[in-house]
Amino acid sequence: MLTQTPNLGIRGKRSLLRQIREALASGGPAQARLDIVVQIIARSMVAEVCSLYLRRGNGDMELFATEGLDPGAVHLTRLKPGEGLVGEIIRLGRPLNLSDAPNHPAFSYRPETGEDPFHAFMGVPLLRGGRVIGVLVVQNRTERSYSEDEVEDLQIVAMVLAEMVAGGELATAGPLKGIDLVPQKPERLKGARFADGLALGVAVLHEPPVAPAQLLAEDVTAEDARLKSAITSLQAQIDSMLEGQHGLVEASYEVLETYRMFAHDRGWGRSLEDAVRNGLSAEAAVERVRSEHRARLGQARDPYLRERLHDFEDLADRLLRHLTGNGATARDLPENAILIARNLGPADLLEYDRGRLKGLLLEEGSATSHAAIVARALGIPCVGRLSGLRDRISENDPVIVDAETGEAYLRPRPDVIKALQARMDVRQQRQAEFAKLITTPGITRDGTKINLLMNAGLDVDLDILGKTGAEGIGLFRTEFQFMVAEEMPRLDAQTALYRRVMDAAGDMPVTFRTLDLGGDKVLPYMEAEREDNPALGWRAIRMGLDRPALLRLQLRALISAAKGRPLKVMFPLVASVDEFRSARALVDHEVAWALRRGRPAPARLDVGAMIEAPALIWHLDALLPMTDFVSVGTNDLMQYLFAADRGNPRVSDRYDFLSPPALRALAAIQKACVETGTPVSVCGEMAGRPLEAFVLVALGYESLSMPPSGIGPVKQMVLSCDREAASRGVSTLIRSGAGSIRNEIETLARKLYLAI
Ligand code: PEP
Ligand code: MG
Repeated sequence: MLTQTPNLGIRGKRSLLRQIREALASGGPAQARLDIVVQIIARSMVAEVCSLYLRRGNGDMELFATEGLDPGAVHLTRLKPGEGLVGEIIRLGRPLNLSDAPNHPAFSYRPETGEDPFHAFMGVPLLRGGRVIGVLVVQNRTERSYSEDEVEDLQIVAMVLAEMVAGGELATAGPLKGIDLVPQKPERLKGARFADGLALGVAVLHEPPVAPAQLLAEDVTAEDARLKSAITSLQAQIDSMLEGQHGLVEASYEVLETYRMFAHDRGWGRSLEDAVRNGLSAEAAVERVRSEHRARLGQARDPYLRERLHDFEDLADRLLRHLTGNGATARDLPENAILIARNLGPADLLEYDRGRLKGLLLEEGSATSHAAIVARALGIPCVGRLSGLRDRISENDPVIVDAETGEAYLRPRPDVIKALQARMDVRQQRQAEFAKLITTPGITRDGTKINLLMNAGLDVDLDILGKTGAEGIGLFRTEFQFMVAEEMPRLDAQTALYRRVMDAAGDMPVTFRTLDLGGDKVLPYMEAEREDNPALGWRAIRMGLDRPALLRLQLRALISAAKGRPLKVMFPLVASVDEFRSARALVDHEVAWALRRGRPAPARLDVGAMIEAPALIWHLDALLPMTDFVSVGTNDLMQYLFAADRGNPRVSDRYDFLSPPALRALAAIQKACVETGTPVSVCGEMAGRPLEAFVLVALGYESLSMPPSGIGPVKQMVLSCDREAASRGVSTLIRSGAGSIRNEIETLARKLYLAI
């Protein structure tokens, strides 16, 4: 007959957790404190055995304290990763509840422990974030099955214990030193560069773990109500996001629907409610359910399951924000804060104190994600796609953001810090030199004026416009406003932004690029159908022409913001002359619309095309006469020329732009523009790299638009450049060379005493 005992009840649990807390805080030797803790747990759970295993740095699970097993086995019994029932719990990331443990195939008998007479076994992982730092086990002699409530009780004890042991001073105490409670070793993680720069500082967790003191609820009924109300407002928010699509894109609601499905998911809600009913605070309940998902799904190889983990993580973050009243409370940051997050939402980064925030590390994201865009605009170095980041770092750990190489150093060694500081010094000196050039015009030694413009896309970019020495905005990426918003910006929001941009630029020119969405730039509130090749798919002007309402709304906003001032508009990813003709007709249509309503037309209207699709290179004779200007988007042009996805690190750097095919394409565009008298600029990232910009100048380009950080270095190059000599040298090299001619161009630059 299997027997069951009732669970502890809230009172019992509170008293148990209080006793554990007191024992851990008692101040005696660490080992003695842990010994008392396992005694207390065994007694409360009516178990004959209670054992605590902790994970060593090498992954072994070491028996650290036991009540009921042979005390001689403590620190002696070590289980290799995956070994025994303890290994099984870690593998599964969830509890194991067995009435007859020795008969389980994973059971590994250790004679030193004397555990053979114990049949009933219940073990739960000690989770912190998504990391399993140990395992807590209770055992009984009789064959009995532990009830679900008892499993729940032990999980709560394990959660609190994990926080108290790992989050407190005990973690660094004597016998626990070699234990992998909190990551202690220096680590280097390789990720992707999202925003250039270097930073050294201390880690600040965007989602800090719930403090041990706040793990338990004072009043379970009130806490349950708080949780339910947060879930209800979360559901309402997601429902309204779904409705808030304004019918702009009739495409599928797939992603939001999935969101909604999870938010209304009974299983998720019930796990949370159970945890609260068992005494946890609502925040702790969210954390607990999240940790379990992470430990379980984080190991999944199936991309579908991993996606689901993202969805759950997003929901957990949203729910926490609802619980903490939208979390808008910007936290006090230490000096030199490096923010650590899984990913950041549209407004998150802007809520932190810019003066103290020195760097950003993200576990996920992409170079076109909200956080990356905002980080670049704010000039905060950012490295992303650092897998496992949050589980390997604790608050206040020293960290380095190396966004030159796309790496993060956690708890770096002193020599690494020293080397970084030297690099930071060099950067700083260079910045000071560039600052001196702000008012100097970019004229080559032989007298050609090179227009240096800045790429922008957000309000925050406007702050630095005057500080860079840029002579205007050569590319204003209007989609950024859409990408950092929670919902589709309406006409007045668009108009207001464009007006601010024109006001800030004053007499300087601004080229507004119409929405370049699709491809890798997806909006959460405007999900298009999944495509096999999004970069080659329904994006940019294609979307604009197929759904003209959105494009017309934007053109209307631009015309209205210009209010009689000059306006420059260009279309992204034009691939055929017809597309440009149709797009241009929409502009004319909107101007006529404004005039009919007695509103002013722009004083001067320039309509241009981006040259990004290689097909246009062979149709410039037809295109250029229709355009007022063109701008070469080398990021996309090169991706299509070389058939190499710009967002895929495996191939994005595989082909050098400084090679004959790429440079011949650029030379052909420049030549056709000169022949037709069409103003042309280059606005891809390459325009902001001095050596590449040197080649563009040599090819005859006189207008370059680039990220703000490129202006200083490129201007320095321009001032030292003899364009005639550069032209001669580069045209010879283009005719030779098989693959990359970068080395040859560097040699040429040295010969010409170029400052790069
Ligand atoms: C480009 O493709 O070069 C460009 C400037 O546009 P984006 O990087 O926004 O695609
Ligand atoms: Mg582009």
